[in-house]
Amino acid sequence: MSVLSLNVDFHSHSTVSDGVLSPTELAARAKKNGVDVWALTDHDEIGGIAEARAAATALELKFIPGVEISITWARKTIHIVGLNIDENNSKLLEGLAKTRAGREQRARDMSADLAARAGLNNVYEGALTYVSNPNLISRSHFARYLVEIGACRSVSEVFKKYLAEGKPGYVPHRWATLQEAVTWILAAGGVAIVAHPGRYDLSPVAYDSFFREFKALGGTAIETVTGSHTVDQYEEYTKIANSYGFLVSRGSDFHSPADAEVDIGKLPAMPKNSKPVWTSWFDA
Ligand code: AMP
Ligand code: MN
Ligand code: MN
Ligand code: MN
Repeated sequence: MSVLSLNVDFHSHSTVSDGVLSPTELAARAKKNGVDVWALTDHDEIGGIAEARAAATALELKFIPGVEISITWARKTIHIVGLNIDENNSKLLEGLAKTRAGREQRARDMSADLAARAGLNNVYEGALTYVSNPNLISRSHFARYLVEIGACRSVSEVFKKYLAEGKPGYVPHRWATLQEAVTWILAAGGVAIVAHPGRYDLSPVAYDSFFREFKALGGTAIETVTGSHTVDQYEEYTKIANSYGFLVSRGSDFHSPADAEVDIGKLPAMPKNSKPVWTSWFDA
């Protein structure tokens, strides 16, 4: 099998962050959907990796340990995926703990803002019923609760009306810096990858400085084929990767069977001119 035709899914979330399947359930779904190599990339957390690795091994599914780190760059929230990390590395563990630390207060502030600006009360308490990991309360948990109480019909509608910048329930937050995220990933022996680059609302000039800075810090790749991109963006970001000398990565960003843009393992093929980050990782 050629490197480009491997069914790689290097971006997914479990109950250890804001997914709804446990690492074991996620491994089973990846296997059932034909994934050849799978990475778990929970937000700011590596707590699911041991279970994920054991489940994948039992299914004879190749597994890559990963993480998706939240950063703030030029006042925007951006996500950096780390793959092939050593999840026991102390620099990485300390950095992730620091990144997670503000989530609890942020969630209380989000709830207060929803009450004050939208008349929605006790949303923090409601969101908590969807949280498995007390260190990792996210906007997704709020969104699921708002759907439950009928404030919106779907999670994507929630992010149009609430929780997004400028909307009730949005609370600005300072995550890690780009330099910190890349440094922690490299310290843990991993490769740093820009998650779903098409999702950030940056000017062309800002995108260029972001990619240059990422590269200078030791960043390796950007995601091209992801559940967050349109088909046109698969090609667009492949060209961008090649022009900056980045490798490319691929992942569904699967969170939940109920509201998945793309199911785990169900992404289309990589564009032909792709240079995948996993080229040297397996005997394909
Ligand atoms: P947080 O890390 O708490 O800011 O939550 C971010 C998460 O919210 C993302 O990882 C997605 O899972 C989810 N999210 C953000 N925007 C949207 C959207 N427009 N539609 C669905 N989910 C979204
Ligand atoms: Mn998420
Ligand atoms: Mn993301
Ligand atoms: Mn993600």
